[in-house]
Amino acid sequence: MTTRRDCEHCEGPMPITARSHARFCKPACRAAAHRAARTVPAELTSRPRWIRRTSRKVPVAVDGAAASSADPASWSTHRDAVRSTAGAGLGFVLNGDGVVCLDLDHCLDAEGEVAGWARNVLDAVGGSTWVEVSQGGDGLHIWGYGALPHGRRITVGGGSVELYGTGRYIAVTGRTFGGTPQRLGDLQHVIDSLL
Ligand SMILES: [Zn+2]
Repeated sequence: MTTRRDCEHCEGPMPITARSHARFCKPACRAAAHRAARTVPAELTSRPRWIRRTSRKVPVAVDGAAASSADPASWSTHRDAVRSTAGAGLGFVLNGDGVVCLDLDHCLDAEGEVAGWARNVLDAVGGSTWVEVSQGGDGLHIWGYGALPHGRRITVGGGSVELYGTGRYIAVTGRTFGGTPQRLGDLQHVIDSLL
């Protein structure tokens, strides 16, 4: 029995000639994925809280076993997670240590234009921290530092911002948005203004 896999970068189907452990559908996808892995800030890659995720966002460990945001034994280093062929991509576990992620869903149109409500959030962030484009290509993840004891979903003029700091993982693409810096900045003032 064979397991159908998707390309780790574009999530398109693998060519039928692909080797069983191939991860990318074509060389351009391999190159793009390796570029993306290098743009993740060191504040994230230095923390051993990486997992893999399937194309349906089920968390798996680097060996393909079940993973959980509540079980540190199922997490790995960034290096090992990048090398793993389990699942379809990378995830980073938020565990309440002060690293947070603001998830702005469906805020980019097909041309990459940012919706007004999301632009307001980005203006408040002020280019101080790393922002990546989400797996679907139409959302943004704003990574940084802040106090966030519980996940929250805030409706802001036409869209919604999900704020996470603990108890879950975030799918990391490494696709840097615009010219945002490769470091994590303080997001507490943004969190306070949203809450
Ligand atoms: Zn591909």
